[in-house]
Amino acid sequence: MTATLILESGKSGSVRRRHPWIFAGSVATLKGRARSGDTVIVEDERGAVMGRAAWSPESKIRARMWTFDPDETIDHAFFKRRVAQAVARRTGWSVLRGEQPEPGGERLIHGEADGLPGVIADRYGDTVVLQLTSAGADAWRDAIVAGIVQATGCQQIYERSDSDVRKLEGLEPVTGWIAAKGLNEAPANAFPQIDEHGVRFGVDVVGGHKTGFYLDQRDNRLMLRSLAKNRRVLNCFCYTGGFSLQALAGGAASVMSIDSSGPALEQAQANLAMNPHLDASRAEWRDADVFQALRDYHKAGEKFDLIVLDPPKFAPSAAHADQAARAYKDINLFGFKLLAPGGLMMTYSCSGGIGLELFQKIVASAASDAGRDARILRRLMASSDHPVGLAAPEGEYLKGLLVEAS
Ligand code: SAH
Repeated sequence: MTATLILESGKSGSVRRRHPWIFAGSVATLKGRARSGDTVIVEDERGAVMGRAAWSPESKIRARMWTFDPDETIDHAFFKRRVAQAVARRTGWSVLRGEQPEPGGERLIHGEADGLPGVIADRYGDTVVLQLTSAGADAWRDAIVAGIVQATGCQQIYERSDSDVRKLEGLEPVTGWIAAKGLNEAPANAFPQIDEHGVRFGVDVVGGHKTGFYLDQRDNRLMLRSLAKNRRVLNCFCYTGGFSLQALAGGAASVMSIDSSGPALEQAQANLAMNPHLDASRAEWRDADVFQALRDYHKAGEKFDLIVLDPPKFAPSAAHADQAARAYKDINLFGFKLLAPGGLMMTYSCSGGIGLELFQKIVASAASDAGRDARILRRLMASSDHPVGLAAPEGEYLKGLLVEAS
């Protein structure tokens, strides 16, 4: 018997507006028994069925809606359908990707925004990396994997369910090649290569950040390339050189890249070597702390014409917002100090705890403290294969500004 989650009186509005999360405080009772990850029927206080959700007793997000259709059942066929829809809808978005008709690397499933809370799937060539972050997603692993195999024809799936948020759901980390029908579980190629707008990158799906690569910045890297010609570029937090290599491809005069991770810098240089058409003599790599490096450049009187600031998540939640705001302010302040007149800066925050409005205020105060007049040319967000559900706008974690300083 499927258990029934009954919502607290007056707490059904958010589900009615199709927000997929049900917080603990909105649950009146659970009628029947459900284990973590089980599907439950969701009813409002008057007993009207609102849909079905995954039960997660250990998380503050006590349930995540799978469907808002009172008649839809949650079974293998449901996941096959949802996965197939997520993959298929992306084929229509090619014009939004700029010049690349067939992306080498692409996010196939972006959680809530694709109607699959807790499911992330990224494709790198014929390898898919799967990340499950919720109890419900974890419980339906086999169905999701079968759906991905059927929709993509990929030959290998690596599971990177090692994100910290799993702990909030009471889930252990799970990593490894997935064994299933049609899959190669001991692949010869554990290190796929992708082509991004004519530049090759190796992707370490086992040991790299996230699922191996920051696919969310793909469209922004293309924009950076189109702005790079003859400019002195400074790429802060360069990881494996995504923005750096695109800057070289765009004809930058020089590209200085900084990261504090040795393995990321090694991969960045290996990536550069995979692209003999790029002028490696214009690239310099620095293993350093960006906060310190920016101060050193300032002391030395260095100037740059195009600066990228793409730091890690300083505020994973609103509780860290104050401390994070100070860190964003610091790097943006020094960014403005280092910008030559007429220089451009692409500055980002991927912190869920910092909204666009606050981020923009921080950047504005950094500019004024640096004594610079500056203007926003573009607001930037993640690539279109990381869409934001209209009903759950807090899913928009990546915010960026392209600014120009006089
Ligand atoms: N722009 C990159 C992704 C950046 S991810 C891309 O397009 O691929 C953030 C990076 O910041 C990581 O590589 C991490 O190693 C690095 N990092 C984190 N803290 C740092 C610090 N204080 N100084 C330098 N690099 C740092």
